[in-house]
Amino acid sequence: MTPANNKSAKKVPVLEAFIKAKCPRCRRGDIYSTPTYGFSAQRMHERCSHCNLHYEREPGYWYVAMFVSYTFNVAEMVTFAVGTHILTGSNSPWLYVGVLMAVVFLLSPFNYRYSRVALLYWLTPGLNYEPWRAEDKAPLPGDGKAGEKPD
Ligand SMILES: [Zn+2]
Repeated sequence: MTPANNKSAKKVPVLEAFIKAKCPRCRRGDIYSTPTYGFSAQRMHERCSHCNLHYEREPGYWYVAMFVSYTFNVAEMVTFAVGTHILTGSNSPWLYVGVLMAVVFLLSPFNYRYSRVALLYWLTPGLNYEPWRAEDKAPLPGDGKAGEKPD
């Protein structure tokens, strides 16, 4: 079997990995152990289950995600304010306050999650996709590939 047709060596597109919140280095391990929207708080894995990347790069690393989240919020609020104006043409400030409060509330789990993922993917120097790390070096317990022989 050549590396080209080896399923485990297939490159994962960055957008797909970002949306699924996969590890930025191997794009296989999950960053979060819980879904974006749910009744319990979102929880992150400390390390990638596949390549063992420690997600919190240094102490206080997640504070930077606060600025990314702020950027997301501004972009969403401007988008929805303009959209509300185009759709309704209203000049009532209470309509805009209501719409934007709802948007900020409803999108806060999304912003929380993807501000950290965006920080890991695009705002961390020296942290890049390394496709070779996605390969199956040794079978991991429970991944169903225990019988596969190395080349
Ligand atoms: Zn990884």
